[in-house]
Amino acid sequence: CGIFAYLNYRVPRTRKEVFETLVKGLQRLEYRGYDSAGVAVDGPNKTPTGINGNTICLIKKTGKVKALDEELYKKDTLDLDEKLYTHFGLAHTRWATHGEPSAVNSHPHRSDKNNEFVVIHNGIITNYKELKKYLITKGYEFESETDTEVIPKLTKYVYDNRENDSITFSKLVERVIQQLEGAFALVFKSRHFPGEAVSTRRGSPLLIGVRSEHELLTEHIPVQYNSAHFKEVVQEKNSHNRPNCSSSEGDGKAVEYYFASDASAIIEHTNKVLYLEDNDIAVVRGGELSIHRVNRQAGEDPVRAVQTLQ
Ligand code: GLU
Repeated sequence: CGIFAYLNYRVPRTRKEVFETLVKGLQRLEYRGYDSAGVAVDGPNKTPTGINGNTICLIKKTGKVKALDEELYKKDTLDLDEKLYTHFGLAHTRWATHGEPSAVNSHPHRSDKNNEFVVIHNGIITNYKELKKYLITKGYEFESETDTEVIPKLTKYVYDNRENDSITFSKLVERVIQQLEGAFALVFKSRHFPGEAVSTRRGSPLLIGVRSEHELLTEHIPVQYNSAHFKEVVQEKNSHNRPNCSSSEGDGKAVEYYFASDASAIIEHTNKVLYLEDNDIAVVRGGELSIHRVNRQAGEDPVRAVQTLQ
């Protein structure tokens, strides 16, 4: 029932600070009601290029956010003083719609035991039974009773069956949401795309807050439609600006992003926010936010205005 996610890009935060930000975000959303809570953060294992994100660690708990908070500090594999220069953490409070409140049914949900793709979800996937049946025939094993679990599994299915290695995280998500019916706000994290964030919505609210030293996002973000133009923009960006893949040093500018189901979790960090519209896919890659949508509707505004919260 509450989504909160925090991405720091080239902003050194200790693991403890990341935990505190995630927990505070969830506490701001507690008033919405929930029965369990969970987070996904990077484990201590670094990628060959030296950044975190080679493993993902899920911590989930039924009951109060306070109980989850205590649980976070019990993991002795996670060093609280470790500096996470670029990191993406997910946090969720669940109000069960499918499957009883339990640790295994709480979010984030995962694609597989290696946590290749993890997802937090607000809403209901109405066609989850058909998707689940299909994925089971393809050999996927489900661990929860939720509707949500089809989403990370379907993401892995699309990834495993990709036609080439240059598929982007946002393209995967685009293919996944084309199969989903119902209402959702979603935030995705993946070991295959360390330091990247993808979020999308249909029917459930989701906004993004930005805190940045430079003037990124002072006015508008153009929505890129899924056309040849969008592909060019993405390719160009990737060729010059993939600092995540090279090292934690480089030319990208420091920036922080906050994803939430409601502004009350963001306002203490920044007043610059952007509300996603139905079927928008927002991607943060190399510290830059871009938004695109699969099909352009007649009369649709081609920009998402950045608003200043009062
Ligand atoms: N339908 C999902 C579940 O039962 C998400 C519920 C929510 O929005 O918290 O796990």
